[in-house]
Amino acid sequence: MKQRTLIWIIVIGFFAAAALGLVLTRPRTPQDISDTRVLMDTSVEIRLFGSKKALEAAFQRIQELDDLMSRTRKGSDIYTVNQKAGGEPVKVDAETFHVIETALRYAELTGGLFDPTITPLVELWGIGTGNPQIPEPGAIENAKRLIDYRKVELEPNGYRVRLAEAGMGLDLGAIGKGYAADSAAELLRQRGVESALLNLGGNVYVIGGKPDGSAWRIGIQDPFADRGTHVTILQVRDTSIVTSGTYERFFIRNGKRYHHIMDPETGYPAETGLASVSIISPSSITGDALSTGVFLLGLEKGLALLEELEGVEGMLITNDRKVYLTSGLKDQVKSLAKGFEFHDQE
Ligand code: ADP
Ligand code: MG
Repeated sequence: MKQRTLIWIIVIGFFAAAALGLVLTRPRTPQDISDTRVLMDTSVEIRLFGSKKALEAAFQRIQELDDLMSRTRKGSDIYTVNQKAGGEPVKVDAETFHVIETALRYAELTGGLFDPTITPLVELWGIGTGNPQIPEPGAIENAKRLIDYRKVELEPNGYRVRLAEAGMGLDLGAIGKGYAADSAAELLRQRGVESALLNLGGNVYVIGGKPDGSAWRIGIQDPFADRGTHVTILQVRDTSIVTSGTYERFFIRNGKRYHHIMDPETGYPAETGLASVSIISPSSITGDALSTGVFLLGLEKGLALLEELEGVEGMLITNDRKVYLTSGLKDQVKSLAKGFEFHDQE
């Protein structure tokens, strides 16, 4: 090889290496990536500013929790606990145990209206399945007798769970998505994600604001209109917004709407005059449990409970389109869509 050629190779090689070094050491700007998948029996959307790897890890986390806590998936912790109702205690994952414990706290807090042993009624009505029905009164009475959160026996050392009577069953449908949102958000933060939006079928959690410094804009669903129509829009950072309502899963028979939030006292879908409840709180498991719990408590008791709790705000919409806000939210929500009106409790 001629000496000139060799010198050229060295010179070009040097510049190529320098260029590569520049590319590798330049701080990578996070990409705006998103995806929507069906998980936890609902549509889960994640949008984040970061890497595809982080996005995959977050979906993976939600899938893991679904595998543990699904009521219908054979072999899940909850499936097994329900199978063994009235029999042996079942060892569950620490996370499942934590979610059950939390659910029982909200059962206490709502005087048993929120009750994670609601399974017999959920299965009887079949709301959200392809085959919902209005059950016979006798069947409703039988199901009601099997619902009692005080009959969930927990052994904290060993994470064992037992349901006291055969036929009982746990259902974490009113709280599991909130826990999954918290958990996936924590994972994203650990991976350095500073801006993200997670939406698990109306259970929303946002990390940070948008990369341009502005807040995330989260619409509160109009419970009487098509999905994507909003009553108002909240500007938020680092918070959870969860809504429970009669519009989420329901069927209509003889002109009457039967929705999926069951009143364990009547055995029928709860009729409290509320169409939806949205909870704004730092923790999404809290928001999920309370959106359902406050819906069941109704306007007066629900608002009172929210005012008592620190760091938790709520927006309650009645069937006659009145909108009630907790005191901490009044500065944040100034306008409503046409047809809705602010009201204060007398
Ligand atoms: P969504 O699942 O639409 O976000 P919720 O968080 O309000 O709505 O949860 C409703 C689900 O909770 C029902 O589909 C059912 O699985 C369960 N559930 C129904 N009634 C009750 C109740 N009284 N207490 C606890 N969980 C309930
Ligand atoms: Mg809920």
